[in-house]
Amino acid sequence: MKVNELAHSLGKHPREIMGLLSELGVRLKNPQQRLDQTMIDQVKSLVAGNIEASDASTEARVIPFLGNRMVLKELATLLDVDLSRLMRAVLEKGMLLNLNSEVEPSLAIELASKLNIILETDAPKPETDTIRRALDRIEEAELDRDPGALVERPPVITIMGHVDHGKTRLLDSIRKANVMLGEAGGITQHIGAYQVGVNGRKITFLDTPGHAAFTSLRARGAQITDITVLVVAADEGIKPQTIEAIHHAKAANVPIIVALNKMDKPEADPDRVKQQLVDHDLLPEEWGGRTIYVPVSAKNGDGISDLLDMILLQADMMELRADPSGMPQGVVIESRLSRKKGPIATVLVKSGTIRVGDSFVIDATAGRVRALLNDCGDKVNEATPGAPVEVLGLVEVPTPGAILEGCASEKDAKELATSRATDSQGHYRPITLESLSDGVEQGAGQRLNLIIKADVNGSMEAIIASIGQVGSTDVTLSVIHAATGPVNENDIMLARASNAIIIGFGVSINAEAQNMADNESVEVKMYSIIYQIVDDLTKAVQGLLKPEFEEIETGRAEVRQLFRFSKLGVIAGSYVISGKIIRSATAKVLRGNKEVFKGKFHSLKRFQDDAKEVATGFECGIVVDGFESLQEGDVIVSMVSQEKKR
Ligand code: GDP
Repeated sequence: MKVNELAHSLGKHPREIMGLLSELGVRLKNPQQRLDQTMIDQVKSLVAGNIEASDASTEARVIPFLGNRMVLKELATLLDVDLSRLMRAVLEKGMLLNLNSEVEPSLAIELASKLNIILETDAPKPETDTIRRALDRIEEAELDRDPGALVERPPVITIMGHVDHGKTRLLDSIRKANVMLGEAGGITQHIGAYQVGVNGRKITFLDTPGHAAFTSLRARGAQITDITVLVVAADEGIKPQTIEAIHHAKAANVPIIVALNKMDKPEADPDRVKQQLVDHDLLPEEWGGRTIYVPVSAKNGDGISDLLDMILLQADMMELRADPSGMPQGVVIESRLSRKKGPIATVLVKSGTIRVGDSFVIDATAGRVRALLNDCGDKVNEATPGAPVEVLGLVEVPTPGAILEGCASEKDAKELATSRATDSQGHYRPITLESLSDGVEQGAGQRLNLIIKADVNGSMEAIIASIGQVGSTDVTLSVIHAATGPVNENDIMLARASNAIIIGFGVSINAEAQNMADNESVEVKMYSIIYQIVDDLTKAVQGLLKPEFEEIETGRAEVRQLFRFSKLGVIAGSYVISGKIIRSATAKVLRGNKEVFKGKFHSLKRFQDDAKEVATGFECGIVVDGFESLQEGDVIVSMVSQEKKR
């Protein structure tokens, strides 16, 4: 296409388009020159972005961010902005990226800020234990409830599948076709979830597709999805993320309905997809299995109503019920900071009914519901189980996964919040091969979930086969996910959510994933010999893999002058010549190169004051416990014991 043709099609002057192109670093001599498709697309996004930007809101939004890598398109979904706006930000930075280019977390943060959105990476994480306890309380409360009070609640659905297989478009077409009555014609807004009505019943869809979102909520202890719709493009068949999604759903014990998408395409081959999925335990009903498959086209809407019917059928089998009376409880699925309205959270109600005026706590913060907005942005007075609702009246922006708990009064809410804030919380104990090994000794029947990442399929299969032979009556080994490729952030999240350890074979781990693993205390073990994996696992299940300790030197001090006191004994006026001397460490005395004593420090002082540590270049007074015969010139070494890395 020529520049002037493009300008014409966009209703712009060719000079304007040439100006935009020069912003992109492309200098053209005349409007007769041809542009390639990438250029055309970029100009179009720029133009679209210009129009968009003029009516963009000035409110800065805060969106919690796990620091994971994603493709540009996913970033647009996370930020809830039009791709064209995001593209414009990319172009302004002088970068050329396409929809499927991977975006580093730092770039994501930068791009977001250009769009007046703050991606908050260090948002306070809710204590997983607090969430678990809150969920336990919900469950206990559930048991106490009068069974007669339980009524059917809408199923909550997450859409997963490989990138570009049509998750977003499917969510869009479901919403467009079926937004709840009464809101017809109304503008729907993105609040993280929406409900559709089918024959007088409701279905709730979480609006953030993909297993990363699904598992990150679960890793925080909050599982809210009842059914997963696995989208597979019928023309392409299964892809790595299809399999990853299956593993994530299975690890969470969530049933899968397969949507065979893009059936409008002539190349669509649904039977081939079914055959591929049989290998992943998704045997279709019509072949004697239990998995529901629904052919659909997100493009033209075919099959969407069948899909909704099938979701309700699956929900019927699960007998999803909740008590709409009583104290409300819900899970935060999204949150943001509005300049005008303050912190806002989208809450999915688990039980009870949230009403305007209700007092509540989220984590350690009390609040009172000032207003409720439904998925169409309409003010409502209440929200019942299964419904997503925006809650206004919070004091802080909560992290997704946090639990909202209703309280009888404002006073109760404040008291609960205060007790939470001062509560010394028990910490999540991550599983490691060593902790497993310890547990085995205590005779505990245990289960070890494993995630395998290997360089090639051959080694992956060999590892799975050899793990199958590691037997023990006390421990069940279970591979919940295996794939080829480097260890990534999704693996860490899955491990965290399922209390699994990750075994890497001949692969690397990217920096973000390593960070996340450190923060979330997920054990990632790297190997290059299969035998070693089998050996470690065997030892672990037999209770033989004890942590080994080694002594390392933290520093040395040289004795310069001795002071003898009748009460205290000998104080060695010393000078720290390397590292640091630590009061609580083990003390070793060297004379020449010979060790003459090993024991404890009795005291460590800087002038008159007790010191915990003294660093290189400083003088200090040392009393070694039980060793009186120090001499000038002796060297005192400080040693600590540390778990040996295998
Ligand atoms: P996601 O990455 O899974 O969210 O995929 P998208 O929903 O963004 O879809 C990827 C591409 O496939 C887009 O260009 C869609 O328009 C297209 N697409 C999605 N569903 C269909 C479908 O049913 N038929 C056809 N022909 N194209 C589709």
